[in-house]
Amino acid sequence: MTETNRAGRPFPNLQYCVRCCVPQTQEGVIFDELGVCQACQSAEQKIHIDWAERERDLRRTLEAAKASAGNNYDCIIPISGGKDSTFQLHVLTKVYGMKPLAVTFSHNWYSETGWYNLQNSLEQFNVDHIMFTPNRSLINRIAKHSLEGIGDSCWHCHAGVGAFPLQAAVRFNIPLLVWGESIAESSGRASYKTPVRKFDREYFTKVSAKLRPDQMVRDDLSERDLYPFNVPTAEECERVGVYGIHLGDYIFWDDERQTEFVRDTYGWRETQIEGSYKRYKSAECIMPGVHDFANYLKRGYGRATFHSSVDVRAGLLSRDEAWELIRQNDGVRPEGLDYYLKITGMTEAEFFQTMEKHRRAELKKTVIPIYPKREPNEERLVPHPQQLIEKVMLAKAQPESEAAPVAQKSESA
Ligand SMILES: [Zn+2]
Repeated sequence: MTETNRAGRPFPNLQYCVRCCVPQTQEGVIFDELGVCQACQSAEQKIHIDWAERERDLRRTLEAAKASAGNNYDCIIPISGGKDSTFQLHVLTKVYGMKPLAVTFSHNWYSETGWYNLQNSLEQFNVDHIMFTPNRSLINRIAKHSLEGIGDSCWHCHAGVGAFPLQAAVRFNIPLLVWGESIAESSGRASYKTPVRKFDREYFTKVSAKLRPDQMVRDDLSERDLYPFNVPTAEECERVGVYGIHLGDYIFWDDERQTEFVRDTYGWRETQIEGSYKRYKSAECIMPGVHDFANYLKRGYGRATFHSSVDVRAGLLSRDEAWELIRQNDGVRPEGLDYYLKITGMTEAEFFQTMEKHRRAELKKTVIPIYPKREPNEERLVPHPQQLIEKVMLAKAQPESEAAPVAQKSESA
């Protein structure tokens, strides 16, 4: 008990949801008159929804898409190789017999585990796949301006995952896009009672990218550089009849069960994820720790707050246990920051100064504690392609007698 009493709300001057751990600084959060956040209200709705009826709805939508596809693909499925996309692929191909075109916007920050998961899912489900990968120099330049512009490291990913599936839909003339988790699941932006069915091509700009490509233009970032991040025009989307659904609005979404399922059935692999105690969200990327640490500096909460709130809603954690996990995780300086500073040329002091500018007014006079990371991260936080190249270069640099053990060692690792 002493342990749990020690934690409590991280910033006593902030209002938190009375059920979970979501603070008033979460973007778009709305508390009802009892102080309950919208995600908690959604979690309650989720129990009372007629999921059998929703599933029939989904079947009708997918059957209609199949009927009108002809020889073309039935739908587009945006995948990262994460647990959600592996589960989406299972549902679409194995349960509903769809022929999807899988598309990936690569943030080019793939972790080794993430790369394995992506390739493994393509092998497991036999789907055709297209990936767009912006070049290294471009990403490094954007990453630097991203922090200044939107207060996190990941503009190119936010914008790209929004734009590329739409570009593919328009270019390949495939109207239906199928995403995973419902927007109602953990954000306050939608409700299970009124799932988002109407298609909004600027959704990702509004919720995550914040700035349009033309607003990211800088001395070393031209409009031409940023061209791949543009969403198609409204006319183009209309011509194809683009629309999107989230499977989580039609199927009862349970992250923990799904993770076990894709792990045991398809060999999906978990890994350590900086800033959280969970091992399956954003496993494909080396940078979620930096993204969420930036959020912590801005808004006073990080990934552990987000995840433990989900677990409190699902009845997997008590609120006291959640506060403790938040205390242990949210304020830890991520190891990924070393790579971020290297690619942007920023100093650590510049990073913190930039974040200071983004800090929410409610936290301006508050000390935001930061703790060192105690153990090195399980896997190296360097993009997988660069690790591959290093490995080959290293083997080349060794005299022949030493080269063999290096190769063996890396295979067994
Ligand atoms: Zn809540």
